[in-house]
Parts: sequence; structure tokens; C-alpha cells
Amino acid sequence: MSKDYVIGIDLGGTKIYTAVVDLEGNIISEETVATNAAEGEQAVLNRILGTVETVLKNVDISNVKAIGIGSPGPLDVKNGIIVNSANLPFKNFNIVQPLKEKYKLPTFLDNDANVATLGEFMFGAGKGTENMVFVTASTGIGGGAVLNGKLYRGNTANALEIGHMTVMVDGPRCGCGNAGCAEALGSGTAIMKRGRDAASSNANTTLKNYSEVTSKEVFEEAAKGDRVSKEIVNTALSYLGIAVANIVNIFDPEKVVVGGGVTNAGQIVFDKIQEEVDNRCLKAISENCVIEKAVLGGKAGVLGAAALAIMEIK
Ligand SMILES: [Zn+2]
Repeated sequence: MSKDYVIGIDLGGTKIYTAVVDLEGNIISEETVATNAAEGEQAVLNRILGTVETVLKNVDISNVKAIGIGSPGPLDVKNGIIVNSANLPFKNFNIVQPLKEKYKLPTFLDNDANVATLGEFMFGAGKGTENMVFVTASTGIGGGAVLNGKLYRGNTANALEIGHMTVMVDGPRCGCGNAGCAEALGSGTAIMKRGRDAASSNANTTLKNYSEVTSKEVFEEAAKGDRVSKEIVNTALSYLGIAVANIVNIFDPEKVVVGGGVTNAGQIVFDKIQEEVDNRCLKAISENCVIEKAVLGGKAGVLGAAALAIMEIK
């Protein structure tokens, strides 16, 4: 009996990760290449097509049912267009058409957060749920939601911009232009900024022992007991937790899956989010909602792109 496969393409600013994936999320063949975005649209498109050729080498293409692509946005998902992206050369570029033409397969595009959400839902920590929210906290904060078993995109496919939820009146300025966004208070970047401010202030903190402070050093010094670092970490994780609590009250999910670099700091992240959810959500909702760590890690994008393809052809 022949097996069905899909192709997942994780298009990022630094690398392109492409794989043939079976319907259970097992990677059959894969290739990762540098994006080299500076070389321009055509060169990057050729490199994407090249990775697809490579991963198809030992696979019968008649068993491949669809292609999914995850890309940073903003995108025009319906028309398969990358509108623009800070780290990619594409401007109003139809990324779906060349793949469709070459392989005669249904081909789908969605943004990296939605794709990662689908990956965790289909193959990761969200497997078996019907209502799941994915939150990623790294340099920024983002996410996605699966509601009643379906990805919730919203009108412009930008739903679940969790990082730009206002969580503090007159808070620090966010990259989006608003003030007091969750991202400006609870992201890795926010922790790094506050750590650097503390290191160059009069405060008594071991952060002064570093020539360059990132969120990693702040987490490490907090774990060792540095009072200033602990305060920074607790405050930032509280704001992240507040953002998650707001989402939980709105969507009433079975599970919140949390991923991204900030979760590398360990259990403290989950304890703090749980504390805010317990304190701020309706009991009927929070008592039936589990907060869990994402499991796909660096494969979230490629498996998510495969999940998108599977979801769309079902
Ligand atoms: Zn913002």
C-alpha cells in the first residue's frame, strides 16, 4: 500500500528548512539551506525549489498530496503572497504560484505563528485537543489558536497577535507604536532591556559582572539569587502570564502550549504563567485548562507547514 505524504517548507530569514512528512508527522527526508536573503527574490525562490527537488529524490511524487509553506508576514494568505517581510527579499511576491506550476500540487501559505500552532496541534503538545492556544515568547510574543478543531485566522489572518495586547496603561513603548503591549513588558527583549538598564544603574546587581547582558544572563543571575534580576524576571513573567490569562478567559481552551526561547528558563516560566491564570481567570475556565511546554522546538516550522498542507486537503 502506498503511503501519503506532504511537503513542509519553513521559510525563515536565516534558513529554509524543507521536508517530506507523512501524515503522522514523521520526517521522511529533509534539507536545510541558508536563505541568503541579500541575494534577492529569484535566488531565494530558486533555493526553495532546490530544497524541494532534494527532499523528493527518494520519494515517489505521486504519493505527495500537497505543499505547505510557513513564512514571516505580513502575508496575503488567500492569494499566496508575501506582502513584505523584514528578513526576506520578497515584496508582493507570489510564493505559491511557482511551486504549484512546477509540481501540480495544492500549495498553501500561512504565517509562521499560525503554522507553528498547527504543528503543535497536530503533532505536538496539543495533539488530541479541540481547542488549543499556542503562545510563543522569545524576542517577541506571538501565537495562534485552534478553535473547534480549526485554525482561527481572523479577517486578515493576523489573529492572536498576543504580543500587542495592552497589559499596562502608559507602559513602555512597543515596536508596533502602542504603549504597554505584552511584548514590551514580557518578552525576552523586554527582559534584556531591563537587565541592561539595571547593569548601568546604581543598583546592586551581579548583572554588572557581564560586558553584555541578554535575557539569558538575567535568568541565570535570578536563579542564583540576584535580587534585581529576580525582580526583572518575576515582573516580565507576570506580564506574560497576564497576557495568557486574558487569552484563556476569551477562548476557554483545553490547553495553552507555550514555546519560544523564554521557555528555556525552565519551570519558573510555567509556574508564573499558571499563577496569573489561577489568579485572574474564571475558575470554571482555568480549572479545565492545562498550560504545557511546546515540544516541536526547531521542527515546529517545518512540521507546522506540513500540518497546514494536511489540514487544507482534509
Ligand atoms: Zn505592540
